Amino acid sequence: MADLSVDPVANLARVRARLKQAAAEAGRDGDAIYIVAVTKTRGPDRILPLLEAGHRRFGENRVQEAAAKWPALRARFPDIELHLIGPLQSNKAKEAVVLFDVIETVDRPKIAKALAAAIEKQGRAPRLLVQVNTGEEPQKAGVPPQEADAFLAQCREEWGLVVEGLMCIPPLGDPPAPHFALLAKIAERNGLKILSMGMSADYEIAAQLGATQTRVGSEIFGPRQA
Ligand SMILES: *Cc1c(COP(=O)(O)O)cnc(C)c1O
Repeated sequence: MADLSVDPVANLARVRARLKQAAAEAGRDGDAIYIVAVTKTRGPDRILPLLEAGHRRFGENRVQEAAAKWPALRARFPDIELHLIGPLQSNKAKEAVVLFDVIETVDRPKIAKALAAAIEKQGRAPRLLVQVNTGEEPQKAGVPPQEADAFLAQCREEWGLVVEGLMCIPPLGDPPAPHFALLAKIAERNGLKILSMGMSADYEIAAQLGATQTRVGSEIFGPRQA
């Protein structure tokens, strides 16, 4: 059961204020950091108040769930910016290119190739980020940090993809700061401007370490029911 006492609009304002405060402590402008409201498992009734309050950036981690939920919302709010933040399978590349404005989880040649083909065919090009598995966790998606430079070059040279930034999810239980710092370093040496990092537990740290966008779910919508 959704906890309807949770007010996503008030919560988003609180996240925004904390983000601003944390960024200011590091000499950064928190208003320039986008909050992607993560809506996986949340129904349109939870999302609509945010849309009505003017929020436009949202993230989903599964193509199927996004396809069921977002076309109807987009019909009412055409300027929505929808981010794919979960792993992509190559057989869903076409659907993802149609549905999403930003795909944050490019992480292997097969996906890059499928996306390049889908982008050409659909005549629609979502903005692309490469996910880096900064903790080198075997079960986690993302290119290993030591392979990131080569993969970015391959995306550009082999498939003509314009990658604009990087995304990471630090290992659960690890201090996140070294992972955010590593991501920022890889982005800098590759001339990439967008850094998607930080979730409910660590967006303030991410804001201090160079995040340009942060992905927040439970701090806005309340705890997810498993
Ligand atoms: C679910 C999810 C989030 C948001 O997590 P919260 O802890 O609820 O803020 C952020 N990023 C990714 C990739 C996710 O899957």
